[in-house]
Amino acid sequence: MKVIIVGCGRLGVVLTQRLLLKKADITVVDSVKAAFTHLPPDFEGQTVEGDALNQDVLLRAGIDKADALVAVTNCDPLNAVVAHIARTVFNVPHVVVRNFDPKWRDLHEKFGFQVISSTSWGAQRIEELIENAEVRVVYSAGNGEVEIFEFEVPDSLAGKPLSEFVSDNCIPVSLTRAGKAVLPQLDMILEKDDMVQISATNAGAKKIYDRLAEEA
Ligand code: AMP
Repeated sequence: MKVIIVGCGRLGVVLTQRLLLKKADITVVDSVKAAFTHLPPDFEGQTVEGDALNQDVLLRAGIDKADALVAVTNCDPLNAVVAHIARTVFNVPHVVVRNFDPKWRDLHEKFGFQVISSTSWGAQRIEELIENAEVRVVYSAGNGEVEIFEFEVPDSLAGKPLSEFVSDNCIPVSLTRAGKAVLPQLDMILEKDDMVQISATNAGAKKIYDRLAEEA
């Protein structure tokens, strides 16, 4: 798989390290030559120095043959334009954009890009961790609009039905009892130490936290 990474900064370098493990054919583009010094010493891919807004730079990076392009500079309008060119001019099959400043997120969504908004996602995760130590997020979809939460059933909830955790924005997805996981029936009665996983929106998550807090 040929991948072009535009922006050899903090995110671009970590992504390169990960994709190298998958043996991807990587080309990294950055307007600042010194940025390439942060690449891992065993990096054998191509580096292209230049402004990614310049189509010649993208062609030198092999955009016409790329399977994927990720635009991960620290400049949102630039990421949007590069991704737009990749998609509409060069028909790159997989295009992913970094949203650096949350105030630009709407722009990426209007373009319909797959967008990773690490600032908003990170803030949301930190808030969850400091407020709700007993509930863990085990999977986060999109930019955290829907997440799977996991918690251990406390003594006080034993004997109550799982249906207490069902609503428009909360759906139980698994229950593990004595090490064996099942797809939960909603009329199941909870037992102490059951491990419950629930898929929920932010509003649904608040209900889970509130319900557990009532029992604390
Ligand atoms: P970071 O914020 O650490 O992820 O770094 C972002 C990277 O994007 C830096 O290495 C910048 O030099 C790079 N960058 C910013 N603008 C451009 C551009 N127009 N073309 C290519 N790379 C860029």
